[in-house]
Amino acid sequence: MSILCRVAGLALSSVVSASALGWGAAGHQSAGAIADVLIAGSHAAGQTRSLLGPWSLRTAALWADCAKGVVRAADGYAYAPARHYPECAVFETPQYEAEMVDFVRRNDSQCRPGAGEEACHRQYHYSDIAWQRGAYLPGAAGSSDHDVVAAVSAAVLVLRGGSAPAPFSIAGPREALLLLAHLVGDMHQPLHVGAVYLDADGAMVDPDRDGDDPATHTRGGNAIRLGHGSLHALWDSVPRRFGPERALDTLLPLARRVAPTPGDNTAWPRVWADETVALSAQAFAGIAFGVREGRGGDAAWSARLPDGYERMREDIDRRQLARAGARLAQLLQTIWP
Ligand SMILES: [Zn+2]
Repeated sequence: MSILCRVAGLALSSVVSASALGWGAAGHQSAGAIADVLIAGSHAAGQTRSLLGPWSLRTAALWADCAKGVVRAADGYAYAPARHYPECAVFETPQYEAEMVDFVRRNDSQCRPGAGEEACHRQYHYSDIAWQRGAYLPGAAGSSDHDVVAAVSAAVLVLRGGSAPAPFSIAGPREALLLLAHLVGDMHQPLHVGAVYLDADGAMVDPDRDGDDPATHTRGGNAIRLGHGSLHALWDSVPRRFGPERALDTLLPLARRVAPTPGDNTAWPRVWADETVALSAQAFAGIAFGVREGRGGDAAWSARLPDGYERMREDIDRRQLARAGARLAQLLQTIWP
């Protein structure tokens, strides 16, 4: 569910298709549009408007992906128009570009990315918990103090009046809300939270039991090839009927029935991630993986999907998009009751 959620640094420049947007732009816009309707007329809607100005949550939901258009330049950082995603046009004014540049400058390397790891702010969009865990476990392989669960939690803390824990640098409530509007969506995309780890023969391995070997990383499914695309891209794409133009007809009724998450809202991200890891098991079940080809960051596996896969995926999409929209609204309404 993100523009380019898992495309490693240098490869980024060659990828300009909007279809690569994580849960694509469409999924994020749909979740935002649902939340806009669900908070309409509430105190939360007023607070949201005062922070976002003219932007709805539907619009704001793309900001964290559009900020990935900021690149390191000779004299610092710059928003690179060459990496233009059509959906980001609304953020392409000098004032808003400066805001994205400032965010990326503060959140680029302060988490000390390891060799082969992406910039910090890119890592905020996902975790790679092995599906075998069945739940999100802090400290498990594929988790970090700056993964998507930590990032959503940090944004909630800032919106509650606290400050973000290291390594996050969140400038204030506006930036926290921009992050939240996007990352709550990512947290509901199975391949943004759960992961499959594969050996050279394409057999599933368990990094927490067998040892976390980088050669087994499938990079959010980007390294799993399906024809001309990837498993990640398949899950990032949203059926047209669940896109933002139709979401209020196709998803809002379901979103209205999403029960509030129990407990304090700082604990909600963990609960949602547990659910998404469990769903990721379905996303990997029955797939026939080929042998590993290529090495290092270019390593990839071919894959053949089982019968009924598309139906299963659309059912998960429908439920998860409705949950993402409903839960973003519920979160804002507990922050600003
Ligand atoms: Zn994302």
